[in-house]
Amino acid sequence: MKKMILQGQSTYDGAGVKLKRIFAHDHTKLTDPFLLLDHFGSDNPADYVKGFPWHPHRGIETVTYMLGGTVEHGDNIGNAGTIGPGDIQWMTAGGGVIHQEMPQPSNEMMHGLQLWVNLPAKNKMMEPRYRGILENEVPVVKIPGGEVRVIAGAYKDVEGPVKELIVDVKYLDIRLKKGTSLSHEAKKGYTSFCYLISGAGEFDETKLEQAHVILFTESGSIDVKAVEDIHYIFVTGKQLGEPIAWGGPIVMNTREELETAFRELDEGTFIKKR
Ligand code: MN
Repeated sequence: MKKMILQGQSTYDGAGVKLKRIFAHDHTKLTDPFLLLDHFGSDNPADYVKGFPWHPHRGIETVTYMLGGTVEHGDNIGNAGTIGPGDIQWMTAGGGVIHQEMPQPSNEMMHGLQLWVNLPAKNKMMEPRYRGILENEVPVVKIPGGEVRVIAGAYKDVEGPVKELIVDVKYLDIRLKKGTSLSHEAKKGYTSFCYLISGAGEFDETKLEQAHVILFTESGSIDVKAVEDIHYIFVTGKQLGEPIAWGGPIVMNTREELETAFRELDEGTFIKKR
């Protein structure tokens, strides 16, 4: 099956948070409907405590999945909460959110994944919404030699807790013991990827190390073999096939919509009264 492998690039974002950017701007045609995947964090609080202070989003969803440590979240309309290990925040920015995401100092490794899901033109200005899912609300399906945590979509007949998705996305977190195999279906009209959090494995007969992603844009079976114990995510989403105008934390369809968004930010009219 046709595939593309990308290795995360070390960089800093926010006010100075060390992260690996797995994919972003350069690959939007290949990653559609996904825009960006970051693996942020470190075992040294100096690498992340400055966090991601107040910033806007429009036209996208940000999906934050914590793997260790916690992030404090707050937004312009008073939503506030903590995203802890194994928790998920599925935020639909829609027409506009201004928020901050602040990792808390920890003696342990603080890290997590943030995936951006693009919104289709007709939903870009929808009312913002949050889905906060706790670790113990995520169903765990035991399989021979491993387990599958179902965050969104379904695995076999077990459905994840994030419902009523705008874009059809499946998001699974998988652990396999060395020597175990598992297959995933890549559907026609969907983009599918596996991102390896730890260990080493073969994905469609291609060996990957941690911090690598393998992307598939055609239909077929993705056969995974754990060369060592592995921990990875499998994510698949329906392609939108729409034009993308991307300006930092705001992603629209046209340059004009982007200019409007930044003008509204300047004028203080970015947040829509409902
Ligand atoms: Mn954000």
